[in-house]
Amino acid sequence: MPAEAPLAIPADSRFILAAARVPAELVLEPPAGAFRDAEGALLLDVLIDHGKVAGLFAGGAGPKDGFRVKMDGRQLWPALIDMHTHLDCGQAIPRVRPDGTIHGGFSQTAADWPHWTDEDMALRMEFGISCAHVHGVAAIRTHVDSETLALSRQGYRAFEQLRQKWARRVELQAVTIAAMEAWIGEEACELADLTASKGGILGGVTDTLERGENGTYDTLDHALDRLFALAKERGLDVDLHVDQTDDLSAFTIPQIAAARLRSDFQGRVVLGHCVNLSLQPPEVIETTLALAKQAELAFVSMPTPMMYLMDRKPGYTPRWRGVTAANEIRAAGLPLAVGGDNCRDAWFPYGDHDMLDTLKQAIRVFQADEPLTGSLAMASRVPADLIGRPDLGRIGTGLPANLIIFSARSLNALLCRDQQDRIVLSHGRQVTDPLPLHHELERALLQVRAD
Ligand SMILES: [Zn+2]
Repeated sequence: MPAEAPLAIPADSRFILAAARVPAELVLEPPAGAFRDAEGALLLDVLIDHGKVAGLFAGGAGPKDGFRVKMDGRQLWPALIDMHTHLDCGQAIPRVRPDGTIHGGFSQTAADWPHWTDEDMALRMEFGISCAHVHGVAAIRTHVDSETLALSRQGYRAFEQLRQKWARRVELQAVTIAAMEAWIGEEACELADLTASKGGILGGVTDTLERGENGTYDTLDHALDRLFALAKERGLDVDLHVDQTDDLSAFTIPQIAAARLRSDFQGRVVLGHCVNLSLQPPEVIETTLALAKQAELAFVSMPTPMMYLMDRKPGYTPRWRGVTAANEIRAAGLPLAVGGDNCRDAWFPYGDHDMLDTLKQAIRVFQADEPLTGSLAMASRVPADLIGRPDLGRIGTGLPANLIIFSARSLNALLCRDQQDRIVLSHGRQVTDPLPLHHELERALLQVRAD
């Protein structure tokens, strides 16, 4: 069989993607009369004009003037969103050598901090952003290591330069990730002010706080109260690393929900990881999620690195998938996004900032495919809303034409093959950049160290 000819995307500012198949959950205000296939995708003509989606029409009913790209039923998706990454730690292989444990992640990252010069960070972080861009990611939220104020300043300096450089192509947001003690320490206000000056978000790691004699997190309430107060004073959102452990006693979601409820903080609160939730008894899961709903908490799960890190012991095959209670969270009506998390660093040695890969892993690991409906939003609509960008992660009239065209005609085919031949449009223009090369980065990093 001859190979299918690749689609030609015009350089014109106005063209029509004719007869595209768009999953209905990714369409804002679908046009009347569009054919809907058995997988829930709508057959649409999509008008692109000056970088925006200028109109959605039932397939065959679009404007007759202008260049028509014959999509022949190819899948058309909005560009995806990665709302939980660590660009500052990333792309450090082989300089760091992960041992598959959380402890190793912490200690090896800390040992790598002395190498984090402006140049080193710029090279590694930009490599990650470039990968995401080529794969069709329109926005990234990254956590800035802020163990000390100096480290935080260093990370934000690199972040700020890249945020400006990549604006419109990959929108960048940053979260200040610190030990929770930092929010009751002497530098708390300065750290919060630094975050605010960069348009950032306040974060922290809740389950690594020192515990009292009876195993409870005695200072967590105080730290959470201060965190919410600092965020409220500055109008910032909150995004926490929560319970990244199989230790059932290190379970902080109820304390976070209670702190949110007793505060008058009105911003968004996102909880990342929460993996031991899935190991709790069903009645604990139920009451915890009811409390989370009352406190308007949202969740983000990082299935790929968690499968690598959780339930790992020498000479043992993991019995636990290491992810949160994803389907229970969704069934409770709470927002659940997926994120890529660490990439080629001391926590996780693999990854390529490809959110399609993350979504596919999530669908399989969560068994979120019966039905598949709603699951695609975990990497698009849901994270776009949680990062405050409702103009992204969906296809709608007036929204940026940040799109991915797949050669697959069905969702099944899309999930079966790796889709490396996808075509990415950024504001209506085809992205033609190649993926950056690992060996070239390695060479450049060695050069930086030699200088
Ligand atoms: Zn993380």
